[in-house]
Amino acid sequence: MPNVYERLRERLDMFPQGFPKTESGVELEILQHLFALDEAEIMLHLRPFPPENVADIAERTGKDKTELGRTLYDMSKRGLIMRYTAPENELYYALIPWIVGIWELQLKNLTQENIKLYEKYFEEGMVPAQRNRKLGGLRVIPVEQEIEGSTEIQPYEKVSQIIESHTRFAVADCICRKESRMAGKGCDKLLEACMSFGASADFYIENGLGREISKEEAKEILGKAEEDGLIHCSTNSAGNKAFICNCCGCCCKSLAHVTKYGNPQAIVRSNYYATKNQETCTNCGTCVERCQVNAIRSENDYTVIDKDRCIGCGLCASTCPTESITMVHKSPQEASPIFSGGKALLQEMGKETGKAYPFE
Ligand code: SF4
Ligand code: SF4
Ligand code: SF4
Repeated sequence: MPNVYERLRERLDMFPQGFPKTESGVELEILQHLFALDEAEIMLHLRPFPPENVADIAERTGKDKTELGRTLYDMSKRGLIMRYTAPENELYYALIPWIVGIWELQLKNLTQENIKLYEKYFEEGMVPAQRNRKLGGLRVIPVEQEIEGSTEIQPYEKVSQIIESHTRFAVADCICRKESRMAGKGCDKLLEACMSFGASADFYIENGLGREISKEEAKEILGKAEEDGLIHCSTNSAGNKAFICNCCGCCCKSLAHVTKYGNPQAIVRSNYYATKNQETCTNCGTCVERCQVNAIRSENDYTVIDKDRCIGCGLCASTCPTESITMVHKSPQEASPIFSGGKALLQEMGKETGKAYPFE
């Protein structure tokens, strides 16, 4: 019978995002590093959705409610499970995947020792597993000013509308850039750039992972992110969004699947693509530098946009000195599908790998 850490790996692999086995077994090293044995055992009984209170989990596991409550709270403080506070202050807990989930919540616990394990697991586990995936969980949100006026623009395509739909905001360091910098290879783009909202913001603030910010500051940070050439991303769902990531092509683990490992479908493109007016373009090369996914190249002194690589972020258009780049809305046939909510998205992602979500 597999040991408890192997069973925990299998359980995390039940998520549509996966937690695949590797030949080296580095994923088991990670789990042993993060979870005490009794915590790993508890994980085998937790469910991803809906969150459950301690009494229900205690009943199912046969554990003492008070002691279990303490352990679950401690695990949630260490970013191993998600904790929600109900209006009457009762705590609810849920299993979370490795990515987006446990790994991101290790933001304050990164060490030279564990980042080696995380980087190794990304290369040996996540990259091969994602290589042929056809549906990523993250969707690009274009620079808003570049799509304003488009009649087809949807609320989920406007960062301003996403911000307006929330009342509590948190910002945290970007773990992709932080980990890359610790490994001696990160870029110097804006670090405090990961934004969360609502219950996710509560969790980030209460766990000391991020700081609370006002709506105005959230808008300012998004502006700075655009100036710095970072791509806005969020879940590929039209409903309530829990976060906006601001990603660079060099450090971002999600974009790396596109830029470094050649799977353009690892991230869901926006419904726009960039086109260029060759008459007014001076071939200055600014857009080549701005594009995080190498979709613009210089060819015989001309800059050329590769529509097949373009993920529709709008960063090139926002800094073109001659305003030669326009973001064009895709035809209905080309448009990237969007799902009603996070659950529907995960169910669709699970279909690719035969994983049902939520699972018991
Ligand atoms: S997904 Fe993007 S913003 Fe989020 S942690 Fe990675 S690079 Fe940073
Ligand atoms: S930034 Fe504008 S002017 Fe410069 S190369 Fe790109 S499209 Fe041409
Ligand atoms: S060409 Fe590059 S920078 Fe411009 S919209 Fe496409 S992905 Fe973004």
